[in-house]
Formats: sequence, C-alpha cells, structure tokens
Amino acid sequence: MIIDAHGHVSAPPELYQYRSLLLASRGYHGKGSPGIGDERMHQGVRRHLDLLKNVGTDVQFLSPRPFQLMHSEQPESIVRWWVEANNDFIARQCRAYPEVFRGVCGLPQTPGGSIQPCVEELERCVRDHDFVGCLINPDPTEGTGLMPTLDDEFWYPLYEKMVELDVPALVHSTACKHFRESYSAHFISEESIAVLNLCKVESRVFSDFPSLRIIVSHGGGSVPYQVGRWRAHRFREQESNPSLESFDESLRHLYYDTVLYNQESLDLLFRIVGTDRCLFGTENPGSGSSKDPATGAWLDDLKPVIEGIPWLSEADRGRIFEGNARAVFPRFRVSAPV
Ligand SMILES: [Zn+2]
Repeated sequence: MIIDAHGHVSAPPELYQYRSLLLASRGYHGKGSPGIGDERMHQGVRRHLDLLKNVGTDVQFLSPRPFQLMHSEQPESIVRWWVEANNDFIARQCRAYPEVFRGVCGLPQTPGGSIQPCVEELERCVRDHDFVGCLINPDPTEGTGLMPTLDDEFWYPLYEKMVELDVPALVHSTACKHFRESYSAHFISEESIAVLNLCKVESRVFSDFPSLRIIVSHGGGSVPYQVGRWRAHRFREQESNPSLESFDESLRHLYYDTVLYNQESLDLLFRIVGTDRCLFGTENPGSGSSKDPATGAWLDDLKPVIEGIPWLSEADRGRIFEGNARAVFPRFRVSAPV
C-alpha cells in the first residue's frame, strides 16, 4: 500500500469565497457557512482523485491548504470559523471517499491567543470526524511577530492532548506577510526553526512526552542539508558535557516527510535521518505539480523517484511508503491488502 502522509484538500471556489466574506465582514455577520452542496464537493475533488490514481497512491492524508489558513487575521473568531469550515469540509470528503482519504485537521492558532481552542478543535476532529492527526503552524503571526518556540511549555496542553488521543502533528506553517519572504520560503524557515528548537539540548519535549510524534514537512527544512553546522555546535557542547546525545541522535526524535521534489535531496534526507524516520508525502496536487521539461515527469510523482534510489532495500521502501505512516498514525486502521 502507498500512503501519502502529506496532502491538502481540493475544494470548489465556494470554500474560498466564504473565507473572503469572513475577511470582508471581520465576522460582523456571524459564522455563516460555505454552503457547498454534495455535487460541488464531488466536482471539487474529481481531478485530485484521478491524479492520485495515476501515480499509484492508495491513501492520502488530507489537511487544509496551509497558505490559506490566515492564522494572523483578526478577530480570532474568523480564524476559528474558517479552520472549522476547512476541517468539516475535509471530513465530508473523507466520508465520501473512505478508501482514499483520512483527515488531518488544521488548528485555530492565533498570535496572541491561548492554545486551548486548538486543543478543543483537535479533540472535536478526532472524536467526531475520526481524523488521524493535526497540523501545527509554529508561527501563527505569519512572519509579523514573535511566538514561543515549539520547545516552550506554551505548547504543552496541545502535546498532552496529542498523546492522549494518540495522534501526531505535521509541522507546516501557513501564510507569510513579511515582504522579504514568500509563504513557500517561510515554510522552509519555520521547519528549520522547529527542528532546531525541538532538537536543542535544552528542549525537554521528548523527555516530558516520550510518545509524542512530530513530523516535519518538506524534509525537515534546511537542517539535513546544513547538518554539519549543527553537528559542530553539538560537538562543542559535548566538550563540557560528554553525556549529551549527538545531534544526529536528536534529529531522530522527529519524523520527516518526503515532500522534496528531487532525488538528490531525498537521498540526502534518507542518509541523514534514516529511512525509519521518513514518511512518503507528495502534497499532490500542490507546489510540486509541475512538469520537468527535460523528462516530462511530474515533480510530485515521487514514488518512481524513491524507487530509483539504488541503495534503498525493499524493507526501506516498505517503511517509507507504508510502515512508518502506520506506526506514526495509529488511528489509520485500514488493513494492508493481502
Ligand atoms: Zn503542504
């Protein structure tokens, strides 16, 4: 079975019109609804289903389109309503196509707000919609302010709920309002910041929550590529405290997805963090839905790219394509085909 752990919802324009209305009214007229009928819901996902079938993906975990999540907008009520509308729409698609989709919820994160609404939305999505995980945006200020880093106890109520519900989180930032950084560049910055803060020697997250599972999107940002710098830093720390684990060992507290659109980067990721920490992900259709003019191949058709890495064993591929996702997302319970 091929499990794509990183996909985003395909919805008709009515969903995004609802977002525009919330922004225009700032919630003055109440929550309202996107008002999407079943036929429009099916139309919105038809091409998405064809794409997955064509690349041989059996199951994809669906979350909201992150760059649309508008976590930094005000008032907080419109952020919450918008996130709920996304999650409810994903739940409908999961119920309509249970053999293909499982839900990963967005959380109503806001720059100055409490983490409690996120805890409640996670519980609602898991209990009511049978979702299997959640997204965490490390920077709901969207490039405009300061947020506690992911090792800060600010996040602990969410981690406690994740452990209680036995669901993982996918670290994935949202929009970016900073003029020097596109949202896509901000994804990579925030993933790097997340890895470095969760892996630093001062972080107590994985000793306080030994069963917590966090996947970092897009191959862990820049960290695998820059690993020499971080190894050097840890070697200096070990000079005064030889009992510290190596930086490479710290990296292995986390998981990483394969949403990297070239073989060289995937090869590096597998070598640095190990194939037992990597989950197949493509974000298809999404940022990588572009054809290489030289080969005619879609960049987000990553199954043949991974199969083409010669040093991977059958066991490695089995872990990447299926086994790790089953271990990290235990609420995904579909049996393997016999
Ligand atoms: Zn994504």
